[in-house]
Amino acid sequence: MRFPALLAACLALTACEVSTVTPQNDAPLAPLPSVQRTGSPQSLADFRAVVRRVEPIAERSCRELRPRLNCDFKIVVEDRDDLPPNAYQTLDKSGRPVIGFTKALFRAMRNRDELAFALSHEAAHHIEGHIPQTQSSATAGAIFGTILGNLAGLDAAGVEAAQNIGGTIGARRFSKNFELEADSLGARIALRAGYDPLRGVLYFQRSADPGDQFLGTHPPNGDRVRTVQRTVAAAR
Ligand SMILES: [Zn+2]
Repeated sequence: MRFPALLAACLALTACEVSTVTPQNDAPLAPLPSVQRTGSPQSLADFRAVVRRVEPIAERSCRELRPRLNCDFKIVVEDRDDLPPNAYQTLDKSGRPVIGFTKALFRAMRNRDELAFALSHEAAHHIEGHIPQTQSSATAGAIFGTILGNLAGLDAAGVEAAQNIGGTIGARRFSKNFELEADSLGARIALRAGYDPLRGVLYFQRSADPGDQFLGTHPPNGDRVRTVQRTVAAAR
């Protein structure tokens, strides 16, 4: 059961990975805004509202940056209640990019900026081409093989397609640099969609910090926050 445990840990930290920006730990940065602890857990309705704004921006960004890529994102919600907070990005059998969220992730998030940042981050993994750079694992995929999705889009055809993606979920073990890359591009997408990635990335302040050694794949939370701060400062 080692791998399922590992995957669960990975999932718990989700809105997972990062970008090509190398963290400069010694660089002076603006102080973080205070964590929003008073917000209500987010709902599927909140997520749908975020999807309506973020998805077109993510697809536009995808077409601008990777004209040859399939940029027609499908966004699904894992229908099971027993999965930990997580989001992921994968490809279905036709090569269409799929972004999945578990219900627990909604409950773990405190505002739409956090949802938008997580969604943008996952879209960025696809745009940056991280999936082809990782190896798939049918074992890990089996865990998500029952994905039933209420599509956040959302139609019967989409739900059916979502059931076919389990076999590739296992590909999601990205490197720290991939995570930071996705944070950086994700921050730009969220910003363009009208959300605040500085507020969105604060989700990680409530999450367990993997420090420098968590499976060697997840960057410390501070690096992620600094990456987003730099990206937003550059964009503004
Ligand atoms: Zn990630």
